[in-house]
Amino acid sequence: MAAAGAPPCIFCEIVARRSPAYIFYEDATALGFLDIFPFTRGHVLLVPKRHVDRLIELPEADQGPFLRALATVCRRVERLSSHYNVALNQGALAGQIVFHLHFHIIPRYDEGNPFGVRSRERLRDDAAASVVAALAPP
Ligand code: 5GP
Ligand code: ZN
Repeated sequence: MAAAGAPPCIFCEIVARRSPAYIFYEDATALGFLDIFPFTRGHVLLVPKRHVDRLIELPEADQGPFLRALATVCRRVERLSSHYNVALNQGALAGQIVFHLHFHIIPRYDEGNPFGVRSRERLRDDAAASVVAALAPP
């Protein structure tokens, strides 16, 4: 949960299933879902279920499980491409716009400079369904 009185945190709302998302991964501490404005096909986010806005605030007991979840998600993303970025933006000046800790996992497909400016279109339902199917357990 975000702090009392603060506007609801969109990722807490997704964790609580009050807002929709294409969820492809869940365990006791983490939730994985598709980014709504993907940089590439299969761009996903991994969040801790507990609201913290940055990694250094993640309780130590959750750090190991969260890293294991990240490795599991990366293993699944490798079904799409063995080339991918794992990114963590911390603070507005670093590009953080959602202040609930999240790793981006962004598959790469030889689409040019991975750090170049790209237009991002809102995720379409048919594209999302095919990515969720590709990333489904095990
Ligand atoms: P940041 O810049 O904070 O690291 O990244 C936030 C990411 O969250 C962005 O890539 C953005 O597209 C994604 N995002 C923002 N709002 C939502 C939402 O409501 N649902 C989903 N699935 N992704 C979101
Ligand atoms: Zn939150």
